[in-house]
Amino acid sequence: MAVNVLKDKCKGCTKCVKSCPFSAITMENKIAVIGSTCTGCGVCVKECPFDAIEKEEEEKAVVDLSAYKGVWVFAEQREGKIMSVSIELLGEGKKLAKEIGTELCAVLCGNNVAGLANELFAYGADKVYVADHSELEKYRTDSYTKVIFEAISTYKPEIVLLGATHIGRDLGPCLAVKCNTGLTADCTKLEIDPEDKKIKQTRPAFGGNLMATIVCPNNRPQMSTVRPGVMDKAVYEEGRTGELIKLDVEFKIGDIRTKVLEIVKKSGEMVSLTDAEIIVAGGMGLGKAEGFELLKSLADKLGGTIAASRACVDAGWIDHSYQVGQTGTTVKPKIYFACGISGAIQHLAGMQSSDYIVAINKNESAPIFEVADYGIVGDLYEVIPAIIEELKK
Ligand SMILES: Cc1cc2nc3c(=O)[nH]c(=O)nc-3n(C[C@H](O)[C@H](O)[C@H](O)COP(=O)(O)OP(=O)(O)OC[C@H]3O[C@@H](n4cnc5c(N)ncnc54)[C@H](O)[C@@H]3O)c2cc1C
Repeated sequence: MAVNVLKDKCKGCTKCVKSCPFSAITMENKIAVIGSTCTGCGVCVKECPFDAIEKEEEEKAVVDLSAYKGVWVFAEQREGKIMSVSIELLGEGKKLAKEIGTELCAVLCGNNVAGLANELFAYGADKVYVADHSELEKYRTDSYTKVIFEAISTYKPEIVLLGATHIGRDLGPCLAVKCNTGLTADCTKLEIDPEDKKIKQTRPAFGGNLMATIVCPNNRPQMSTVRPGVMDKAVYEEGRTGELIKLDVEFKIGDIRTKVLEIVKKSGEMVSLTDAEIIVAGGMGLGKAEGFELLKSLADKLGGTIAASRACVDAGWIDHSYQVGQTGTTVKPKIYFACGISGAIQHLAGMQSSDYIVAINKNESAPIFEVADYGIVGDLYEVIPAIIEELKK
């Protein structure tokens, strides 16, 4: 995409200089000159009263879609442990691969991590691409992007899935830009279009008020980051094997622009909502922060954990790590108790796939009852102690 000045038409009015958002235009001998910071945005083309600037549209390169095969899952590991979202993606990836009639592969980066390949095979990967190098010990944008981009360029996967973790949300867009392809972030549903076998990626948009389904028709790979806790985990098959492919890893000086000086682990309470089988969540109906103590006694009785709506987090009653919902954690426990939670769409986005939902709410018209399997209309300060009493028996 080049922007050119037609010297014979330029009158030196400087309108383009003032309009350029990137200060890329200067005047030389009363003629506009486009500099190297030009991004080809075309603002100057519209601004010029003398039609003296033109933009050459590059012909779009046509991608040979048939050259791309296989569903890839980025097997995110931290300190030698595969993150559970990657196991969920292997479960989902297997379904997608089966529908397209292709193979499921995992791509693993780290230092001395090749041993983890067996776990990935057991979770359904047919092939595992391993990049093992001391520079890959800790996640860094440059190193991981370089290695995985090279692997994508060589092996040409059709679909690449990453967990929407802090790492996946950083890595996904970098890879997509380098591959010149589309990425849908934070997906909650993936499915294959039966007609053209392209992937339909669904994600909440506009504050969760709309579910947008997005396709990537002309570029490859089709890339998505997927919310942790949404998809079912792959089933572990002891002894299942596959093909291990070692990736060549080479870094030159300047390839990696950042250094990890220290990793500080949050000293606050570790909450693992995604692994909890029973969650007792509280909302503004608790009326006060101390209300969580009552929920905690029910959760302890059931061997579960407490959680909260965002309104409670915003009120400063509980830490954000307990928040369930669109801007919190997505959970899928066996039982989800929603106590004094109205059931706003942004909250439902994070818990409606729970196996059983039990709602306790004073207001029988609260939207939470629309998704609840069991509903109790009443004051949670009466209902919960009664449940605890029953459990004691
Ligand atoms: C972009 C965006 C992202 C958001 N992300 C999230 C998110 O991730 N998670 C989230 O939760 N919210 C999120 N929200 C906020 C969301 O829209 C709601 O405001 C929030 O979920 C409401 O929390 P609540 O149900 O606790 O409170 P309320 O809506 O105030 O509901 C309180 C409920 O308690 C009931 N009640 C009152 N007293 C009692 C009692 N004694 N016993 C029983 N029931 C009682 C009431 O009938 C009422 O239904 C988001 C909003 C936006 C705009």
